[in-house]
Amino acid sequence: MPGIKESLAAIRSTLPPEVGLVAVSKYHPAEAVAEAYDAGQRLFGESRVQELLDKAGRLPSDIRWHFIGHLQTNKVRALVSSGVASLIESVDSERLLRLIDKESERAGIVSRVLVQAHVAQEETKFGFLPDELADFFACGGYRSLKATHICGLMGMASNTDDEARVRADFAALAALKKRITDTAEDLTGFDILSMGMSHDYLSAIAEGSNLVRVGTAIFGERVY
Ligand SMILES: *Cc1c(COP(=O)(O)O)cnc(C)c1O
Repeated sequence: MPGIKESLAAIRSTLPPEVGLVAVSKYHPAEAVAEAYDAGQRLFGESRVQELLDKAGRLPSDIRWHFIGHLQTNKVRALVSSGVASLIESVDSERLLRLIDKESERAGIVSRVLVQAHVAQEETKFGFLPDELADFFACGGYRSLKATHICGLMGMASNTDDEARVRADFAALAALKKRITDTAEDLTGFDILSMGMSHDYLSAIAEGSNLVRVGTAIFGERVY
């Protein structure tokens, strides 16, 4: 099996220059992050608040961390007030969005977030339904946010080998992003389209992703 450095280089060689790479280090030790860091990687993704805070405290401060997991409401304050996440990618409900905003205002910071849309077939994945999200923006729900900037959209494709299905899911996410920017005329900086993981990131890029989140293909299988 190739090492972390080789895997990173192999993946980077497939990415167009405008596509960012989040190295998803969840469930891997800080040493693995350090190895990727030494290979030049500066952007990492974590899915649990405590794990993120632990790693951030042990690793170089020029790392940018994205939070990519389901964020429980009772963890919002710890995450937001730490100021450690440069982007919370996984805002999957309006309730969570409002809570992040409240805690950001309280902490005196502005949080950058993505809203997570659910287009995949699986019932279990979190996220706004596309119509729900489009309505939120059409009604100007973002205008009352005081300390949160919505920087774009995050989503996942169905977990299937059916390539056409995967492409259709990514196309639906790209279309939703366009629908939102077309209707919400005063929405600025809604630029990020985060989609694509180890097994499907090339399809995601073909459908317009500009941020991919790759874990297993860099760090190997996770041990839960
Ligand atoms: C774990 C995770 C990834 C990375 O998945 P891999 O298949 O290991 O590349 C990407 N996005 C989210 C939201 C995740 O939870």
